Amino acid sequence: MHEAASGEAALALVSEVKPDIVLLDVHLPDMNGIEVCQRIKSGKDTSAIIVIQISASAVSAPQATASLNSGADTYIIEPVDPDVLVATVRAFLRLRIAEQALANANQQLSEKNDQLHAANEALQRSNEDLEQFAAVASHDLQEPLRTIITHLQILESMSEGKFDEEERPVFAAVMDGARRMSNLIRDVLNYSQVSTETPEHQAIALAEPLNWALENLSESLTSCEATVEVTELPTVIGDPSQLGQVFQNLIGNSIKYRSEQPPRITITSSLDEAGHWMIRLQDNGIGIAPDYLENVFRPFKRLHGSEIPGTGIGLALCRRIITGHGGRIWVTSEGQESTFTFTLRPA
Ligand code: ADP
Repeated sequence: MHEAASGEAALALVSEVKPDIVLLDVHLPDMNGIEVCQRIKSGKDTSAIIVIQISASAVSAPQATASLNSGADTYIIEPVDPDVLVATVRAFLRLRIAEQALANANQQLSEKNDQLHAANEALQRSNEDLEQFAAVASHDLQEPLRTIITHLQILESMSEGKFDEEERPVFAAVMDGARRMSNLIRDVLNYSQVSTETPEHQAIALAEPLNWALENLSESLTSCEATVEVTELPTVIGDPSQLGQVFQNLIGNSIKYRSEQPPRITITSSLDEAGHWMIRLQDNGIGIAPDYLENVFRPFKRLHGSEIPGTGIGLALCRRIITGHGGRIWVTSEGQESTFTFTLRPA
């Protein structure tokens, strides 16, 4: 505990000691206690100090309000009951401890927030670097591969049936491998471009990207006698070319993974509880085992060998596109039926 006999001495002591609480008499020999209180409360380093102002009972109510308005935390009238004074000081000390604990917690929270922010930024940068790397690598890989395929084709035409029984399958395997690698690189490039090119989302009638996909797939649809039934589709917020890719991948898969029956594809839509459109594409193909319903959306995840061509990127790309549109995509399957559902925001 420290004591000062005048206002100036009190101010000097307060800035030197920085106490938790100051008991301040209104009547001081050199200045008014209210002014001392104001100076404590307006000081940068002293504003948080609790000030309890004490004065004679004879003073008027305006003086009490002036004290409180000057920043005093409470006002006690003389003669002061020692028990009341001690209890008041204790109550304010408890308040001070609680304030300090809150300030510490706030400080820790703000530090954690800064750390989280920095980690987020680093993650975003590393993601962008990775996407950039995938885009550049796949783009640059295409060039030498194109040269390989062209020269294989030249070799094939030069051979004009000169390959013998043993050489022919070896050559076919090399050619097949090169073509598969070319498709894989094309799909990886496609995948990495979806997020680097921020799509221009606009209001589009979903029938438009669907028709684009159906046109691209018309040959395969006809050759396997597929039927596609579509109930009226809504207008949504989206990127037409990306949503076209989603339809093309999903319908293409329904053709690729068909059962003995000709593919029968049904496309329907309805609103979910959140007011988003749910687009459902159901097929009568080979179905997907329950354990793989989530796995099929991972890049390069395939449930089939090379007997059915594919790179394992199609569904990963669909998920990336739909997530980029603020939606979700999932699959359910029962027996020989798969239903892919995705959500999109209404226009
Ligand atoms: P890809 O078709 O190139 O293998 P996808 O990412 O499009 O790659 O699909 C991943 C896997 O999910 C496929 O290999 C296949 O096993 C399974 N799949 C996708 N669509 C269907 C479907 N409609 N019916 C049954 N299986 C499917």
